[in-house]
Amino acid sequence: MKIKVVFENHPHHPRCIPMWGFSCYIPRYRILFDTGSNGAVLLRNMEVLDIPPEEIETIVLSHFHWDHTGGLLDLLQTHGDKEVIIHSAFSITFASEAENLGARILIEDHPREILPGAMTTGSLKGPMWEQGLLVRGDEGWALLTGCAHPGISSMVTTATKLTGEPLYLVMGGFHLLNLTPQEVAKVARELLDLGVTSIGPCHCTGDQAIETFSGIYEKGCISVGVGLEVEV
Ligand SMILES: [Zn+2]
Ligand SMILES: [Zn+2]
Repeated sequence: MKIKVVFENHPHHPRCIPMWGFSCYIPRYRILFDTGSNGAVLLRNMEVLDIPPEEIETIVLSHFHWDHTGGLLDLLQTHGDKEVIIHSAFSITFASEAENLGARILIEDHPREILPGAMTTGSLKGPMWEQGLLVRGDEGWALLTGCAHPGISSMVTTATKLTGEPLYLVMGGFHLLNLTPQEVAKVARELLDLGVTSIGPCHCTGDQAIETFSGIYEKGCISVGVGLEVEV
């Protein structure tokens, strides 16, 4: 199973535009997770990565921050016929704007199976409520996070209970900008203890925190940038 990083603030693919935000596409399940901060950049990167907008069936939004929701309306403008899964911490105005463009909005706070092998974690309490996406590949389960505002360890704990087995990959923003390297190292060891095989800390994780993760996870730490394709 491939996971394509469509929107991210670190460069990787020479023809993709890096910009603050996060979004991934999983062709096997036709699910787009988050939409980055800008519609034009999202659509351009999708084109470079050979993702036809009409192929997307479901869009899962992690949380109501502009750098994760910013590309949605532009995408719906030309391809409105999508199922969009949000939760109750999103604005009603935003949801109705999407609905007016033809989207079917699902407001769901509980874990929800989208297809066998693909489900949301349900919304978890943080400074900002957030849901993660779980997708099963040949190597095992991958958890995608937006900013991990509820705490990355707590999101992984919840996700592991849902899958009933340790996660193979955890990728996305881990939001650890304000932590000391010692505190970040503690989080990395928690993920190791939870049995997570590989990690892709990116977006709002913080570059220093990413270095600390990479020191602890070594080869299990993927360097993520826009246009990267991860095989699970
Ligand atoms: Zn956020
Ligand atoms: Zn973010």
